[in-house]
Amino acid sequence: MSGPAVYAVSAVEVGAGEEGSQRTGQGSVWHDPSGKADLSAAVDALRSGEFTPLTSAGSTGLKKGSYWSYFELQNTEAHNLPLRLEYVDHQLIRLRAYSRGEGDGSEFQKIADQAMGEPFARRPVFHNRFVVPVELAAGESRGFLARFDSEEAGFVFPSMRIWSPDALSKSHTGETAVLAFLFGGIALISLFSLIVGVTTGDSSFFAYFVYGISKIIAWGTILGFTHQYVVQNHFHWSYMSAAGAISIFCGVVFDRLFLQTRKCTPRLDYILLLMMLNAAVLLVSALLQIKQVALISITLALLFYPVMTFIALVRWRQGSSEAAVFAIGWTLLLSGLFYQALRDLGLVEHNLLNYYLPPLSSFVEMVTIMAAMGIKLRRVRLQGLESERQYRRHLEQSKVKLEGLVRARTEELEKAKQQAEMEARTDPLTGIRNRRSFLAEAELCIKRAYRKGEPVSLLMFDIDHFKSINDNHGHGIGDEALRQFSYTIQDKIRETDIFGRLGGEEFALLITETKPDALHTAERLRDNIAGIRLPCPEGTVQFTSSIGVACAHQAQTLEQLMREADEALYSAKQRGRDQVVEYRQSLSGELVTPDVSTEPGMEPA
Ligand code: GH3
Ligand code: MG
Ligand code: MG
Repeated sequence: MSGPAVYAVSAVEVGAGEEGSQRTGQGSVWHDPSGKADLSAAVDALRSGEFTPLTSAGSTGLKKGSYWSYFELQNTEAHNLPLRLEYVDHQLIRLRAYSRGEGDGSEFQKIADQAMGEPFARRPVFHNRFVVPVELAAGESRGFLARFDSEEAGFVFPSMRIWSPDALSKSHTGETAVLAFLFGGIALISLFSLIVGVTTGDSSFFAYFVYGISKIIAWGTILGFTHQYVVQNHFHWSYMSAAGAISIFCGVVFDRLFLQTRKCTPRLDYILLLMMLNAAVLLVSALLQIKQVALISITLALLFYPVMTFIALVRWRQGSSEAAVFAIGWTLLLSGLFYQALRDLGLVEHNLLNYYLPPLSSFVEMVTIMAAMGIKLRRVRLQGLESERQYRRHLEQSKVKLEGLVRARTEELEKAKQQAEMEARTDPLTGIRNRRSFLAEAELCIKRAYRKGEPVSLLMFDIDHFKSINDNHGHGIGDEALRQFSYTIQDKIRETDIFGRLGGEEFALLITETKPDALHTAERLRDNIAGIRLPCPEGTVQFTSSIGVACAHQAQTLEQLMREADEALYSAKQRGRDQVVEYRQSLSGELVTPDVSTEPGMEPA
């Protein structure tokens, strides 16, 4: 038996108003790989000097079994001193603590036994982490043994912070408020995302909502608040892994949708699918409490995390600006997790900053990715506006094109119509008015003339012995004779005169002239016709025409005028052809011929 110095531990001096800045527990630590050593075995180990100072910055590393820590506290006050020893981490399975009075001889007494699986109400202090309440008498120096259990393998932080009860309670309230702010922020972002998802129908916003909620659940569980406030009686360590697994799964689902990896980076998308599979394995192993598999898959999940930043950068290079912001957000989360990993590995000391860095970076990641979502939303909206503009422009162009086509088509139709009308009016052989057109125009012209009190005369032509031209020289020459005849008359009359072919070799001409002028014109035309010379193989063809003239004297109808002119024409034929005969109803019924021409109808060349 020896004094306290045997344990190679110097007592931590404590007083009133301890605010957690003093720590204890790392100075003398013993590892029991079997996890089966009881108090007396630990005391033996302590006596035989097997307790050694922790070499790392706080973590024991990933080892099976349990850890024992020995430390001494020295009350510097002259009165009783109640204290709170707070275990620094939230993932310890079980904590037992023993204490004894001054001197090596007295027995250790159990002062605390807390376990994750036990109802929260059993905890002596209302806190999300394990807290051991102790009380030292005035000036008392007391030794403590604490046992930390990690069922399979786990990181253990033997460090404990020393608090006065008030200061711990204040600090806990402050901490809870900060976390409420972070969780509230994530909850608001999630709700906002849900609303945007509902209004835009963009599935990545729904995924983001689910992801956010899964984060709240995961961090709330991992930090011990689920045990403290929700599942108070039946909490189990596997809930932490399960909640983490669900959050990783939801995160990857969201990332795949947001970065559109299936479409844009199909190969890298397989890695994300693997990450989802790994998260599913973690979930199953957590639920079935296969701790080894859970441990491997959570390590894998963390190792996979940087891939997401890489994919986001690839998407950024493909032109997605929101992917760059996403990469920043994801990197912040990564750095939080990375720093926690350094703490777990014992490379950096456990402190408040790295304790809350993961949930804090998770919060910043949510905010950053929300900004990325905003950028995406804006881009989608701009794309929508642009395509609408293009659609309108296209519509406008189509309209102009269509109008052009319609105009061209209308012009074509108009032309075709005019052509058809012209053809309907025109005699195809001679190009002058046909019978129908002549009758219609002449009718109008007569009406107009009567209204204006102008004179009207009708001349009717019939080529003499035309049949013989056909017979002697062929139909072609007959046709040419008809064309020359038409051309000759058309050439010698005014534009306002109406000339047409009534059929065969009969023509009619309506002129607004007085009788003497009409007779004169008839005579002139007859002369012109007689002057026509048609070349043909047999020589030259000449022909004459008989002309009947009827002059309106009592507003006769066109029909009457035509009948009268026809009668006069018949008379001209009877009188020997190639002459003009004016219709004049004499008292004796005789028709009068003003002038007689005796030129023969045809003369060989
Ligand atoms: P008349 O002096 O009594 O008028 O004798 P005609 O031979 O001129 O009279 P008839 O009525 O006996 O003959 C008219 C001829 O005109 C008969 C027909 O073959 C011919 N004819 C009618 N239309 C055309 C045509 O478009 N082209 C040609 N080449 N001949 C036509
Ligand atoms: Mg005839
Ligand atoms: Mg004739």
